[in-house]
Amino acid sequence: MPVYKEQGIVLRAVKLGEADKIVTILTQGSGKVRAVAKGIRRTRSRFGARLEPFTHVSLLLYRGRSLDTVTQAEIVSPFTTVRADLGLIAAGETMVEAADKVAEEHERNVQLFLLLLGGLRSLEARPADPAAVAECYLAKLLSLSGFHPSLGACAVCGAAGPHASFSAGQGGSVCDACRGPEAGRVAPEAVAWLGGLARARLAEAGAMTPPFPVRREARAMLYGFVEYHLERRMRSFALLARQPESAPRPQPAAAL
Ligand SMILES: [Zn+2]
Repeated sequence: MPVYKEQGIVLRAVKLGEADKIVTILTQGSGKVRAVAKGIRRTRSRFGARLEPFTHVSLLLYRGRSLDTVTQAEIVSPFTTVRADLGLIAAGETMVEAADKVAEEHERNVQLFLLLLGGLRSLEARPADPAAVAECYLAKLLSLSGFHPSLGACAVCGAAGPHASFSAGQGGSVCDACRGPEAGRVAPEAVAWLGGLARARLAEAGAMTPPFPVRREARAMLYGFVEYHLERRMRSFALLARQPESAPRPQPAAAL
């Protein structure tokens, strides 16, 4: 059966030749799929904007030897709200980039698909703090991918926390006896906040507002942990780290 039907979320699209694009889609039943959308960059393309990143689409694909070909695409949900606000875009880009990094081509991963769909739906509801939703999503994606961070007990010996050291390489928070040379000192409150965020539902995460220093420290731990275990730099973190725009940031000294 060279033709197959799938639904999925567009992760990214890159130009190919004069008029085509290669679209990367996280599908519900076939894992990550890379497919050519022919003629998509022509003004009168039958695909229109249906294969833009974040779009949830229903597809008809033709299986090829290395790349598949999209023959039909219908929008299930365009997630237009997510595209309309910088904070939501930053959170959405982090979600699709992380999903792209952990998904395997043509390897079914329904849980990952549902996590991404749930993440985008939570963003579409315009949460107060979209970056916190993306960070909650990252914690869940780590657990789903086998890199569950230890945020209560010591990652090495299991001693009950909270502990004041954190090491991505050792698996999370570590006690004083187990901490390796690369472990960093952290505030136990920041570890506890990150643990709460990891347990929260995606739809709730955007309403959790910790004190700014706790948030900043928790983010540094989470981002470092993600990049260490996914073995990749996350390009979207640069923008995500600046959200929310209203967060206190260093101010130049007031002129007297
Ligand atoms: Zn220990």
